[in-house]
Amino acid sequence: MILSDNAIKVLEKRYFAKDENGQLLEDSAGMFRRVAKAVAAADAPYVSALALQTIEDEFYEMMSGLEFLPNSPTLMNAGRPLGQLSACFVLPIEDSMENIFETLKNAAMIHKSGGGTGFSFSRLRPKGSAVNSTGGVASGPVSFMKVFNAATEAVKQGGTRRGANMGLLRVDHPDIMDFITAKQDNADITNFNLSVGITETFMKAVAANADYDLIDPHSQTITGSLNARAVFAAIVDMAWRNGEPGIIFLDRLNQDNVTPELGDFESTNPCGEQPLLPYESCNLGSINVSLLVTDQGNGPVLDFERLVTVVKKAVHFLDNVIDVNKYPLPEIEQITKSTRKIGLGIMGWADLLFRLNIPYNSQPALDLAEQLIGVIREQAREASAELAERKGVFPQFEKSTHCQHGIRVRNATTTTIAPTGTLSILAGVSSGIEPLFALAYIRNVMDNDELMETNPFFKQAALTGGFYSEPLMRTIAARGTIKGLAALPASVQAVFVTAHDISPEWHVKMQAAFQKHTDNAVSKTVNLSSKATREDVSDIFTLAYETGCKGVTIYRDGSRDLQVLNIGKVN
Ligand code: UDP
Repeated sequence: MILSDNAIKVLEKRYFAKDENGQLLEDSAGMFRRVAKAVAAADAPYVSALALQTIEDEFYEMMSGLEFLPNSPTLMNAGRPLGQLSACFVLPIEDSMENIFETLKNAAMIHKSGGGTGFSFSRLRPKGSAVNSTGGVASGPVSFMKVFNAATEAVKQGGTRRGANMGLLRVDHPDIMDFITAKQDNADITNFNLSVGITETFMKAVAANADYDLIDPHSQTITGSLNARAVFAAIVDMAWRNGEPGIIFLDRLNQDNVTPELGDFESTNPCGEQPLLPYESCNLGSINVSLLVTDQGNGPVLDFERLVTVVKKAVHFLDNVIDVNKYPLPEIEQITKSTRKIGLGIMGWADLLFRLNIPYNSQPALDLAEQLIGVIREQAREASAELAERKGVFPQFEKSTHCQHGIRVRNATTTTIAPTGTLSILAGVSSGIEPLFALAYIRNVMDNDELMETNPFFKQAALTGGFYSEPLMRTIAARGTIKGLAALPASVQAVFVTAHDISPEWHVKMQAAFQKHTDNAVSKTVNLSSKATREDVSDIFTLAYETGCKGVTIYRDGSRDLQVLNIGKVN
């Protein structure tokens, strides 16, 4: 097993089992064995003891070989008392004090177990409307979101990891302007990602430069109207200033709802990649595509044969997770087991492109993205159909669009592209489908020592090309890009592009290419340079809409005071 020091550090801090004194009870092999055993156990009623051991070994090999990793809660909690294995939840918030605080409690329990929660605040009556039981006035969705934020802050310390939230408000809610500007001060509502729920009606009004109606969800009456372009401009302005809110195309999410009879999508999980029905949860997993390269003498190509094998095993794994999972609430268990959604995606995409000598910002990269995710979805569905033959279709299958299409599957959805924030560190690869931030950077370690970190595939290319040197890597770390460095061949400059070499349009096109064959959604941040204008942001939103994305998140370099990652220097 080739885990980096960094990966081991992360695992020791949060993932390995410990005793009450904080002493580690396992190493990485022990962790993968624990997870493999716990997840394989779902097959016990179906196969012999010998076959069960084979399944466990397959799961173990796939994880320890870093070919596939399940989302963090599965790694942390499988085979342990907590046993909560999912990363994604959506909880409903009804327009009553009882329900608001019931949901707050449920969210706290989910955060404690390492899951993230998404909420739509759209059903809450607007600020200033009457509260019948008290004769007072309602404080509105934004004020309750602040309560949720404070609770998340408090749970943070004791939980397995930072609780993350998505807060969504429909664009036709009367408090929409308060919501759009809620994070004007960057220090506010830090435990939430905010997204405006955009409707088709709104987008049509933007196109026509018309007004659209605001609707009080409590009384279902029209309370007023706003100019759609003015609201759109306000969202753009705040996103330009602060990266938030993002936007989510609600009607588009619901077009892909395969079980509309069970309810509508009101929100996604925190990072936007997983639309879910109220109380639904989903477990994710990601294939490390940077490993899937073969060379039959004609240069490196994507190894589709190996991909298919990993997809099959990964779907089996994720489907098993649903059965061995310990759910935080009976409502969550009930609906999750009735749709059996899983979200298989990828990480290491940018690294794969490096290995194949394909620039991220190129048509061949988009073509390969579509082909790759197309094969993953097709094979994942096939695997799900095979599981359905052995173990049965998901209980709500008859009410699903799959039934209408005559496709017997065990999982209502199979594909999702997650951010893989931690998984990609564990696997030592680029995250999700994002480009790299830097090819080389300086990491400050203890005692003010500086450590040079270079992307392994770039280093390999530099060594092969005969231009590797420590001073050159330092230059690259300081510059943030290799564009225009005379010491480097033009072909290398074209292939080894990083986030800021890639224009925002290519970021969106890549997101759209993956979305095309993804059942759920795609996690992606469109990076803009600090010089980008509000018009650039507006163009990105429009392009995302036009190219079929389910939402979009942008980040303009330097727009937040405290940036986690600065090009050239990482702490
Ligand atoms: N998530 C969370 N807290 C975090 C990071 C992630 O609750 O600090 C949840 C959230 O729902 C997010 C999902 O996990 O959308 C997947 O995130 P990611 O792929 O980065 O997680 P990983 O499995 O790599 O830890």
